[in-house]
Amino acid sequence: MATSSHSWTCAACSTPHSGLAMVFGPNAPGPWMSATDAERAGGELDADTCVLPDGDGSMNYFVRGHIEIPVLDSPDGPFCWSVWVSLSEDSMLKLAAVWEDPARADLEPMFAWLCTHLPYEPTTVALPARLHNREPGRVPWVELDPGVDHPLVHEYRTGVTMHRIAEINQQLIND
Ligand SMILES: [Zn+2]
Repeated sequence: MATSSHSWTCAACSTPHSGLAMVFGPNAPGPWMSATDAERAGGELDADTCVLPDGDGSMNYFVRGHIEIPVLDSPDGPFCWSVWVSLSEDSMLKLAAVWEDPARADLEPMFAWLCTHLPYEPTTVALPARLHNREPGRVPWVELDPGVDHPLVHEYRTGVTMHRIAEINQQLIND
């Protein structure tokens, strides 16, 4: 796991924040975590993709990506939320066709919905986003719609301090 190596005394709390995790996120999309065993049996989950039947005969498609949040007071950034987004079947087919191909990086950005609960109020689920694919082996990045009024979008646009990252670490490690 990526951690910060830079160490200095935080202006906000006089603590030397170091060794903080710079990537956090669940290993499955929210709908998978709340699905029954029978529903999961009809789907599939790996480290980067997930398929889950939605109950009315169609399938839901999910891909993991990173929301990169600039860090304003340290060279150790960005801070990354590892999240899952849902894609249309059409987008998933386009992505699957070049999954192992460097041409994957040339795909147009894909409309997506955020499908991960992050520690913000209100919920981060169903925030609109766009998935930007990169070459195989690199996690796609997730662009949030900058016009949406939400605390996650605000941090995504303006960045955070290491003090905030220390708070996130404490909150998630104690959960
Ligand atoms: Zn601090």
